[in-house]
Amino acid sequence: MSKKENRFKGYGIATQAIHTGTDYDAETGAVRRPLHMANSYKLPDDLSQVNYSSTDLLMYSRNGNANQHWLEEKIAALHGADDAIVLASGVGALHALFWTLLKSGDRVVYPKVSYMAVYRMFHELFNRKFGVETVMVDMTDLDAVRKAVTPGTRLVHIETPDNPTVGVTDIAAVAEIAHKNGALLSVDNTFASPLNQKPLELGADFVVEALTKFINGHGDAQGGAIISNDLETMDRIRYEAQVNVGAVISPFNAWQIFRGSVTFPLRMRQINASSQQIAEWLEQRENVTFVSYPGLPSNPGHELAKRQMRGGFGGVISFGVATDDKTVERFCAALKVVTFAVSLGHDESLIFPQPSYDERIDLYPEQFRKGFIRFSVGLEEPEDIIADLDQALRAVGL
Ligand SMILES: *Cc1c(COP(=O)(O)O)cnc(C)c1O
Repeated sequence: MSKKENRFKGYGIATQAIHTGTDYDAETGAVRRPLHMANSYKLPDDLSQVNYSSTDLLMYSRNGNANQHWLEEKIAALHGADDAIVLASGVGALHALFWTLLKSGDRVVYPKVSYMAVYRMFHELFNRKFGVETVMVDMTDLDAVRKAVTPGTRLVHIETPDNPTVGVTDIAAVAEIAHKNGALLSVDNTFASPLNQKPLELGADFVVEALTKFINGHGDAQGGAIISNDLETMDRIRYEAQVNVGAVISPFNAWQIFRGSVTFPLRMRQINASSQQIAEWLEQRENVTFVSYPGLPSNPGHELAKRQMRGGFGGVISFGVATDDKTVERFCAALKVVTFAVSLGHDESLIFPQPSYDERIDLYPEQFRKGFIRFSVGLEEPEDIIADLDQALRAVGL
């Protein structure tokens, strides 16, 4: 697909979230573009011009659909980028990127703390099935990164802040190490979101966003995006991974995420402010053993986060409580405002314990190995969230 001109380039992110990808419906003049639940589109009369693996022509919805394309214009604009590819899930987007870039014998350096599916892909799938050399490293330790990224490394993948410990990685420094060794850098930006962090401006080659989270923001649609200025590789991803592997987004989900993303900057600003307030409260609450949130001056990543994030530190707080796994579960179940469920970035606050028997627990810093909870701050009144956390802690004797 060729790059679309962004008529709102240079405007603020809230303006772009409202206006990019939007247009009048040509047929009716409606001020909203319609949902096109069509699998196929009318072919041109001259079929000799049609390439069935192409994404240039609207032809079959696996090659691209109209609602997907309109959402791609908006997601690219949110990152100030030339192009975005929207797929069926965040993991679908990560896989499409890795599948296209990597082949047998390539070396990829990936983080010790990352989204579970990234760990699975590099710890047991790409290495065992396809002979990709996968090297796990602590991305918050730049000396370790320098040792792991050897000349000829194909890809360095990072996540910042990371899931689930909310650790911060220096994007510009890792980009420099990667590029010096001929490697590309991809950044999973889901926890930060484009309101708070734009990795392409810090030297990253590719950004991945789980649209499922803050960008859609309503917990009712799954989607993922790859964002980049490397138009040639983006076209390869469309050809190799979208059309010929097939993790395409349904037009309905693209339409729903398009709608959710209109209010994304407004929601994210509130989530940043509420998260800061709640993290500060948690930090002084007795029986809370640690709070990991980059907005706290006590956080080891705070100074770095202030440099590479734009004044907001995101909506996920990880914290610990001085108790066992069973009591942590009882605490989560005792919450009345906060919902006990996986995922993050919804309108409602979500809480999810990370039990001490988790297979990856030893990969996390020491303090995370007991009573560790991941908390995604929602749009409820912050005072109500704080009161709810407090009453549920008290209910289990904490
Ligand atoms: C949720 C998440 C993903 C995956 O997104 P899905 O839509 O669930 O596939 C990837 N990375 C991070 C950091 C996430 O939190």
